[in-house]
Amino acid sequence: MTSYAFDLLVEEAALCRLCGPMGCAPVLSQRNGPAPARLMFVAEAPGRLGGAITGIPLSADETGRRFARWLADAGIERSSVFVTNAVLCNPLDARGRNRPPSRRERANCGPWLARQIDAVAPDVVVVLGAVALAALEEIAPHGLTLRSDVGRAVPWQGRTLVALYHPSPRTRAVRTDGQHSADYRALAALVESVVR
Ligand code: SF4
Repeated sequence: MTSYAFDLLVEEAALCRLCGPMGCAPVLSQRNGPAPARLMFVAEAPGRLGGAITGIPLSADETGRRFARWLADAGIERSSVFVTNAVLCNPLDARGRNRPPSRRERANCGPWLARQIDAVAPDVVVVLGAVALAALEEIAPHGLTLRSDVGRAVPWQGRTLVALYHPSPRTRAVRTDGQHSADYRALAALVESVVR
């Protein structure tokens, strides 16, 4: 179920080619999740073997499987949450591999992200990783850093903002799977405590 504002946003974003050639068309549709939704996740960009193929952020690849596992650990239904990325298209390097979005691509996609937050109207926004943190900082300052603030809830734009590490296997160097799982269980408790 989605609102008229969200459906309109999907139609408009589908036409965007502002960044030039990317690895896929914008990954934004009713398959991202319900709009409105109480809980919204913002990750980095659709992955070459995941969202860029399925049209569903954080799905099908190893990153998506890790995300799904920790949602399940926390008793959070994937179908109840809205999931998107700081940039809607898949950034690829010259060899066709995933790369982080550039600052320009992040800035280009910022207005689409701001409109998604408005349309989804979540009580709690969870940023997954440094790229998403930077993207939200450009919408409105929050001052959070991954180094100091993982799991800390702060007020932001009339909502609650929480920063977690990105679920990519690359984050194993800084966060164990057990820590990730605990982060999602704490998040579930936080969402329950947030007054509607
Ligand atoms: S990444 Fe965002 S701004 Fe860039 S082309 Fe895709 S939808 Fe447009």
